[in-house]
Amino acid sequence: MPMLPTPKADLLEVFSSIQGEGILVGCRQAFLRLPGCNLKCDYCDTQFANASNCKIETMPGSGKLDLVPNPIELEQIIAIINGWKAAMPGAHHSISITGGEPLIHGDLLAAWLPELTKVLPLYLETNGTLPDELLPLIDFFDWISMDIKLHSQTGIRTDWDTHRQFLQIAKQADCYVKLVVGEQTPDIELQLAADLVVTQGEDIPIILQPVTIDDQVGISTRSLLRMQAIVAEVSNNVRIIPQTHRYLGVL
Ligand code: SF4
Repeated sequence: MPMLPTPKADLLEVFSSIQGEGILVGCRQAFLRLPGCNLKCDYCDTQFANASNCKIETMPGSGKLDLVPNPIELEQIIAIINGWKAAMPGAHHSISITGGEPLIHGDLLAAWLPELTKVLPLYLETNGTLPDELLPLIDFFDWISMDIKLHSQTGIRTDWDTHRQFLQIAKQADCYVKLVVGEQTPDIELQLAADLVVTQGEDIPIILQPVTIDDQVGISTRSLLRMQAIVAEVSNNVRIIPQTHRYLGVL
């Protein structure tokens, strides 16, 4: 049977920066940002509208982005990241597959991930709501950053069952769960989320990520510490980590 050609991708951004969130905070990554999402959170700041061009940082760390017409070939992306690796040996820890929600592009990822994982290990950033799409791809990811989307922040109903199904699969990788919290986050949401996580694995890290408003932490330190104490009644691994890349002013 003839081999199918590798599909091209509509990408939003390809750049080199530090991971600003979660358990790999501070690690240098190559970011591939895919367009589109299956949710519509109130606080979403991801621009999806125009995917006719991809912004590509040709010099890693320069912050200068070239507009390249979509769709993009896999070979082009591999050549760019290999160029970064050659220019800065050892600097890049992994490739972050991010969005939007990357898992809505299941067919593309099934074709691309086997090749990308030969370049650098893979890290997935996901909203944690597409377990059926994750299942066939789970073996490619070394790390998974998974959200539990809390109604108080997103404005959409939290699908606890779907998050549970997702974590059952995601925990095969080195996985953590991120909760974006604000002043209006009620204790019951924190307790439900903590229970969900701990029943899947008592050591799975829970990251309380304060909502970012105008590049500032949008919740008082006092509230954050109180929330950490609530989650710590259930979990032995709860940390407060803001979106550090926003303060550093990096991509
Ligand atoms: S899941 Fe993420 S990308 Fe999707 S709408 Fe919510 S914040 Fe935006």
